[in-house]
Amino acid sequence: MIDQDLNIEERQMRKPIIAVDMDDTICHLVKRAIFHNNNDFPTHPLRYEDMHDWNTDHLRHPACTQEVFFARKGLYEELEFFDEHVVDEMRKIHEGYDLIIVTAAWPTAVIEKWNWLQKHMPFIPNENFLPIKRKNLLDFDLLIDDGAHNLIPAIERGKQVLCIPHPWNLKARKQYNIPLLTSWKGAKDRIDQIFRRR
Ligand SMILES: [Mg+2]
Repeated sequence: MIDQDLNIEERQMRKPIIAVDMDDTICHLVKRAIFHNNNDFPTHPLRYEDMHDWNTDHLRHPACTQEVFFARKGLYEELEFFDEHVVDEMRKIHEGYDLIIVTAAWPTAVIEKWNWLQKHMPFIPNENFLPIKRKNLLDFDLLIDDGAHNLIPAIERGKQVLCIPHPWNLKARKQYNIPLLTSWKGAKDRIDQIFRRR
Protein backbone atom coordinates (compact mmCIF):
# COMPACT_ATOMS: atom_id res chain seq x y z
CA MET A 1 0.00 0.00 0.00
CA ILE A 2 1.33 3.44 -0.77
CA ASP A 3 0.81 6.58 1.31
CA GLN A 4 -1.74 8.12 -1.08
CA ASP A 5 -4.08 5.21 -0.36
CA LEU A 6 -4.19 6.05 3.33
CA ASN A 7 -6.52 8.61 4.83
CA ILE A 8 -5.07 11.16 7.25
CA GLU A 9 -6.02 9.16 10.32
CA GLU A 10 -4.45 5.98 8.96
CA ARG A 11 -1.31 7.88 8.00
CA GLN A 12 -1.00 9.25 11.53
CA MET A 13 -1.48 5.73 12.91
CA ARG A 14 1.12 4.14 10.65
CA LYS A 15 4.30 3.35 12.47
CA PRO A 16 7.44 4.53 10.70
CA ILE A 17 9.15 1.70 8.82
CA ILE A 18 12.67 1.10 10.10
CA ALA A 19 14.71 -0.93 7.61
CA VAL A 20 17.75 -2.59 9.14
CA ASP A 21 20.51 -4.34 7.22
CA MET A 22 22.11 -7.52 8.60
CA ASP A 23 25.75 -7.96 7.56
CA ASP A 24 28.10 -5.63 9.41
CA THR A 25 25.08 -3.79 10.81
CA ILE A 26 23.61 -6.18 13.38
CA CYS A 27 26.31 -8.86 13.03
CA HIS A 28 29.94 -9.00 11.90
CA LEU A 29 30.31 -10.56 8.45
CA VAL A 30 33.57 -9.15 7.12
CA LYS A 31 35.56 -9.94 10.27
CA ARG A 32 34.40 -13.57 10.16
CA ALA A 33 35.05 -13.85 6.41
CA ILE A 34 38.56 -12.49 7.04
CA PHE A 35 39.09 -15.12 9.73
CA HIS A 36 38.33 -17.91 7.24
CA ASN A 37 40.32 -16.22 4.47
CA ASN A 38 43.40 -16.00 6.65
CA ASN A 39 43.11 -19.68 7.59
CA ASP A 40 42.58 -20.83 4.01
CA PHE A 41 44.90 -18.40 2.19
CA PRO A 42 47.72 -17.55 4.60
CA THR A 43 49.82 -16.09 1.78
CA HIS A 44 47.16 -13.36 1.36
CA PRO A 45 46.18 -12.33 4.89
CA LEU A 46 43.56 -9.63 5.16
CA ARG A 47 43.04 -7.02 7.84
CA TYR A 48 39.71 -5.38 8.65
CA GLU A 49 41.45 -2.00 8.75
CA ASP A 50 42.52 -2.38 5.12
CA MET A 51 39.02 -2.93 3.77
CA HIS A 52 38.72 0.58 2.41
CA ASP A 53 36.41 -0.23 -0.45
CA TRP A 54 33.31 -2.29 -0.99
CA ASN A 55 35.17 -4.28 -3.64
CA THR A 56 38.22 -5.95 -2.08
CA ASP A 57 38.83 -8.44 -4.92
CA HIS A 58 42.34 -7.05 -5.46
CA LEU A 59 43.36 -7.83 -1.86
CA ARG A 60 42.44 -11.49 -1.97
CA HIS A 61 44.19 -14.60 -3.30
CA PRO A 62 43.04 -15.26 -6.90
CA ALA A 63 41.33 -18.45 -5.73
CA CYS A 64 39.44 -16.54 -3.06
CA THR A 65 36.61 -15.33 -5.25
CA GLN A 66 33.65 -13.28 -4.00
CA GLU A 67 31.74 -16.53 -3.75
CA VAL A 68 34.48 -18.24 -1.71
CA PHE A 69 34.80 -15.19 0.55
CA PHE A 70 31.11 -14.37 1.03
CA ALA A 71 29.24 -17.61 0.33
CA ARG A 72 31.08 -20.20 2.44
CA LYS A 73 28.58 -22.80 3.61
CA GLY A 74 27.38 -22.04 7.12
CA LEU A 75 29.11 -18.65 7.29
CA TYR A 76 25.96 -16.63 7.94
CA GLU A 77 24.93 -18.79 10.89
CA GLU A 78 28.20 -18.28 12.74
CA LEU A 79 28.27 -14.49 12.78
CA GLU A 80 28.71 -12.64 16.06
CA PHE A 81 26.50 -9.82 17.27
CA PHE A 82 27.59 -6.33 16.33
CA ASP A 83 27.68 -5.55 20.05
CA GLU A 84 26.07 -6.61 23.32
CA HIS A 85 23.22 -4.10 22.94
CA VAL A 86 21.92 -5.06 19.52
CA VAL A 87 19.36 -7.71 20.54
CA ASP A 88 17.67 -5.58 23.21
CA GLU A 89 17.59 -2.53 20.98
CA MET A 90 16.21 -4.46 18.02
CA ARG A 91 13.47 -5.82 20.26
CA LYS A 92 12.59 -2.30 21.40
CA ILE A 93 12.61 -1.02 17.82
CA HIS A 94 10.35 -3.89 16.77
CA GLU A 95 7.91 -3.02 19.56
CA GLY A 96 7.87 0.70 18.78
CA TYR A 97 8.12 0.73 15.02
CA ASP A 98 7.53 -1.35 11.90
CA LEU A 99 10.93 -3.03 11.84
CA ILE A 100 11.92 -4.80 8.64
CA ILE A 101 15.15 -6.65 7.91
CA VAL A 102 16.56 -5.80 4.48
CA THR A 103 19.57 -7.82 3.49
CA ALA A 104 21.30 -8.66 0.23
CA ALA A 105 21.88 -12.40 0.23
CA TRP A 106 23.46 -15.07 -1.91
CA PRO A 107 20.57 -17.45 -2.68
CA THR A 108 22.24 -20.17 -0.62
CA ALA A 109 22.62 -17.78 2.31
CA VAL A 110 18.95 -16.80 2.61
CA ILE A 111 18.07 -19.74 4.83
CA GLU A 112 21.23 -19.26 6.90
CA LYS A 113 20.32 -15.63 7.52
CA TRP A 114 16.77 -16.55 8.48
CA ASN A 115 18.12 -19.25 10.83
CA TRP A 116 20.40 -16.67 12.47
CA LEU A 117 17.48 -14.30 12.98
CA GLN A 118 15.27 -17.05 14.36
CA LYS A 119 17.95 -18.09 16.79
CA HIS A 120 18.96 -14.65 18.03
CA MET A 121 15.97 -12.37 17.33
CA PRO A 122 12.95 -14.71 17.25
CA PHE A 123 10.59 -11.76 17.79
CA ILE A 124 11.08 -10.78 14.12
CA PRO A 125 8.31 -12.45 12.06
CA ASN A 126 9.09 -13.93 8.68
CA GLU A 127 6.99 -11.33 6.86
CA ASN A 128 9.45 -8.71 8.13
CA PHE A 129 12.47 -10.55 6.65
CA LEU A 130 13.22 -9.24 3.17
CA PRO A 131 16.26 -10.70 1.40
CA ILE A 132 16.85 -7.99 -1.19
CA LYS A 133 19.81 -6.37 -2.85
CA ARG A 134 17.94 -3.52 -4.56
CA LYS A 135 16.88 -1.81 -1.36
CA ASN A 136 16.01 1.39 -3.23
CA LEU A 137 12.87 -0.40 -4.49
CA LEU A 138 11.49 -0.39 -0.95
CA ASP A 139 9.54 2.28 0.86
CA PHE A 140 10.91 2.85 4.34
CA ASP A 141 11.29 5.86 6.64
CA LEU A 142 14.73 5.12 8.06
CA LEU A 143 17.53 2.87 6.85
CA ILE A 144 20.27 1.58 9.15
CA ASP A 145 23.04 0.13 6.99
CA ASP A 146 26.78 0.07 6.42
CA GLY A 147 26.70 0.11 2.62
CA ALA A 148 27.21 3.50 1.00
CA HIS A 149 25.54 2.06 -2.12
CA ASN A 150 22.36 1.70 -0.03
CA LEU A 151 22.67 4.79 2.15
CA ILE A 152 23.36 7.38 -0.55
CA PRO A 153 20.34 6.48 -2.74
CA ALA A 154 18.18 6.55 0.43
CA ILE A 155 19.47 10.03 1.30
CA GLU A 156 18.80 11.16 -2.26
CA ARG A 157 15.21 9.93 -1.90
CA GLY A 158 14.80 12.04 1.25
CA LYS A 159 14.91 9.13 3.68
CA GLN A 160 16.43 9.21 7.15
CA VAL A 161 19.56 7.09 7.49
CA LEU A 162 22.00 5.94 10.13
CA CYS A 163 25.36 4.58 8.99
CA ILE A 164 27.24 1.86 10.84
CA PRO A 165 30.84 3.05 10.47
CA HIS A 166 33.40 0.73 8.87
CA PRO A 167 36.55 1.39 6.83
CA TRP A 168 34.67 0.74 3.57
CA ASN A 169 32.23 3.58 4.14
CA LEU A 170 34.64 6.18 5.54
CA LYS A 171 34.96 8.12 2.28
CA ALA A 172 31.22 8.24 1.61
CA ARG A 173 30.19 9.11 5.13
CA LYS A 174 32.58 12.06 5.15
CA GLN A 175 31.53 13.20 1.70
CA TYR A 176 27.82 13.03 2.51
CA ASN A 177 28.11 13.83 6.22
CA ILE A 178 26.02 10.76 6.99
CA PRO A 179 24.84 10.44 10.62
CA LEU A 180 26.47 7.50 12.37
CA LEU A 181 25.34 4.79 14.70
CA THR A 182 28.59 3.71 16.34
CA SER A 183 26.96 1.46 18.95
CA TRP A 184 23.53 -0.10 19.30
CA LYS A 185 23.34 1.23 22.86
CA GLY A 186 20.44 3.70 22.92
CA ALA A 187 19.52 3.07 19.27
CA LYS A 188 15.77 3.06 19.98
CA ASP A 189 16.06 6.42 21.78
CA ARG A 190 18.05 7.79 18.87
CA ILE A 191 15.31 6.74 16.44
CA ASP A 192 12.66 8.29 18.72
CA GLN A 193 14.56 11.59 18.53
CA ILE A 194 14.74 11.42 14.74
CA PHE A 195 10.98 10.96 14.40
CA ARG A 196 10.12 13.55 17.05
CA ARG A 197 12.04 16.12 15.00
CA ARG A 198 9.98 15.56 11.87
MG1 LIG B 1 25.74 -4.66 5.32
